[in-house]
Amino acid sequence: MPYEHQTRREIEGNMSDNDPQGLYRALGIQPSANSDEIRTAYRKLAKDTHPDTSQDQNTEKFQKIAAAYEVLGNPLRRAAYDRSAYKAPTQETQTKVIDPICCSRCGQVTAQPRHIVFFRVYSFIFMTTRNPVQGIFCASCAKKEAARSSIITLIAGWWGVPWGPLYSVGSIIGNGFGGQHKRSADEAMIWYNALAFLSHGHMQLSYALAMQSKNALDKEIAKNADELTRLLERSGVDPKQGKLKNPWRTSVLSATTYCLMAFALPGALAAALFVDSQNGSRSTVYGGATTPYVSPPKTAPYQQNVQKAVTTPDVPTCANVPPNGQLLGPNRLSTADGHALEIRNGAGGNAIIKVRTEISGAVVATFFVRSNQTARISGIPDGRYKVQYAFGSALDVSCQRFVELNGADEFPRAETLNTEQTTTEIITQVLSYTLYAVPGGNIRPQSISAQDFERP
Ligand SMILES: [Zn+2]
Repeated sequence: MPYEHQTRREIEGNMSDNDPQGLYRALGIQPSANSDEIRTAYRKLAKDTHPDTSQDQNTEKFQKIAAAYEVLGNPLRRAAYDRSAYKAPTQETQTKVIDPICCSRCGQVTAQPRHIVFFRVYSFIFMTTRNPVQGIFCASCAKKEAARSSIITLIAGWWGVPWGPLYSVGSIIGNGFGGQHKRSADEAMIWYNALAFLSHGHMQLSYALAMQSKNALDKEIAKNADELTRLLERSGVDPKQGKLKNPWRTSVLSATTYCLMAFALPGALAAALFVDSQNGSRSTVYGGATTPYVSPPKTAPYQQNVQKAVTTPDVPTCANVPPNGQLLGPNRLSTADGHALEIRNGAGGNAIIKVRTEISGAVVATFFVRSNQTARISGIPDGRYKVQYAFGSALDVSCQRFVELNGADEFPRAETLNTEQTTTEIITQVLSYTLYAVPGGNIRPQSISAQDFERP
């Protein structure tokens, strides 16, 4: 019986459940603490216990505090730590009852939790910060936090140049469409809950969650979930009631509200960014991988090449620069359906984006994103893709490629796009990347050669 319940550790109530190694406890804070509270708590404790300054030389305690802050003080490491509490139990451990995951805000058990990072932007003249607010959320607390963070951003975010408006618009839309979350983490938590509800005897609920887990990216989870559903069907669970409502669906009304909020930001920049993301946007962003990324600022080489282009008029260039989002050359997009790719280009130059299949490297689409604009293409079929991009000076006479590249990059991870079908709708994904330096962004692109970028 592989599905008897097993866990490596005792669970003593919800709080410790969210704090498997006691890092929050070491700093004397709750797992729901925000980044400012974490910093304040750390500074105070560090001062009290530092071997150089403290009366009671407590090196061990100081080290513990420093170690806790090293993880919790970094949004990405903190996110990984928060998620680590919910690894599904392994088979070799002993049989125990495990508790389902609780929302870190309201403390209620939530069947389909997500670990989400929302952003609040604060600006003052030349300074702009993006503060993450993160935790394990139920859908209703997530909606509240998305609204709170977005309203704070709306009031405090755009008063800085040049990043204030850009970050603000990005954060408000990001928050409105569910914040940053990882599909693999969501799936791991759903599977954990399937086992937890089973261990508490809630067979129907466990079955519904296991049905979702069958589509997990993690092959191990998918396989075990499949076994579990069959086991439960044999023991009398009704497969007809196997669907849970998806509480994470972004409604058209809410999507519109957030778009309006972002639109309300003064400045042509915000407006320009937004015209594009309105095009063909679907309200079903469930499971969309939202991937922030960091690009080293490209402004210096870009400016150099602009000058070169201007001072060498003998190179023929494109007469009419294509509109933002223009597809360049042949593509394999489907007109009817498929996934979307959205590129926010804040890097300070026009960019060409290529989507290639992971295995063969065949180009699925090539398109043009103007500087400081957002472009979106849709109709990408299911599959695994790599996204490459390049900046350049001027386009050549064909208007399909740059005369000279100022460097090309590739996002290191291939992304899987899968269409999910429920009884009432077809759910496709939106993959989004931002081409500008985001402090704390978690993806560093790898540079590739011009030949690699140009090859058909
Ligand atoms: Zn909640």
